[in-house]
Amino acid sequence: MINSRFDGDDFKHQGLRNRLIKIIRNKGITDEAVLTALGAIPRHLFMDSGFIGFAYKDSAFPISCGQTISQPYTVAYQTQLLNVEEHQKILEIGTGSGYQTAVLIEMGARVYTMERIHTLSLSARQILTKLNLSAHFQYGDGYKGLPGYGPFDRILITAGAPSVPDELKNQLKIGGILVAPIGSPELQTMIRCKRISENEFSETKHGGFIFVPMVAGKTED
Ligand code: SAH
Repeated sequence: MINSRFDGDDFKHQGLRNRLIKIIRNKGITDEAVLTALGAIPRHLFMDSGFIGFAYKDSAFPISCGQTISQPYTVAYQTQLLNVEEHQKILEIGTGSGYQTAVLIEMGARVYTMERIHTLSLSARQILTKLNLSAHFQYGDGYKGLPGYGPFDRILITAGAPSVPDELKNQLKIGGILVAPIGSPELQTMIRCKRISENEFSETKHGGFIFVPMVAGKTED
């Protein structure tokens, strides 16, 4: 084991993380770049210090404002489907804790991340700054995307939406890929949508997941 480059990440955390990576691998994640990134990012630093014991279990966990940090397997699953390559420009909808954002940055992507709850956007920015991981944090409504910064190679939605928002599909580069959990608030199907040409998109359906809902509009605070 080598010393972590992150403050507050010791051998005990690294050991727990290695065990978690084995579990995720056994659940079917095969992309080594994804597993390496999850193995590097100290998930416990994205949770309240009282809950550090839960950080390396493969489950979602509450963060503030009634939201959740996604289950590590789900983060790995979405990231694998996204087919991330170095230097790609990625738009993430639903910053939440900032954990998924950190995983994408660790894979070499340039990340633009949107969050409708200001408090969460600020605290995620603070954590990532401490870890020396840089991203563009945008407090705003993800249904609108970031047309001024697009088009994007990849778009990742980390909240459950009723359908793939057209506004976001239009911010994909030709050949670009969007991954999103789509369905009812109780259950969503992971969708991978590829932009074939200006007006053509192809879609494949993957496993069932449960995310917090994607809500239109941003909060006032
Ligand atoms: N990727 C996050 C998961 C957070 S849960 C993580 O790793 O921790 C989903 C997040 O999406 C919540 O923080 C929620 O506030 C946010 N969200 C919901 N609807 C949104 C919208 N329209 N625009 C931006 N963010 C949204």
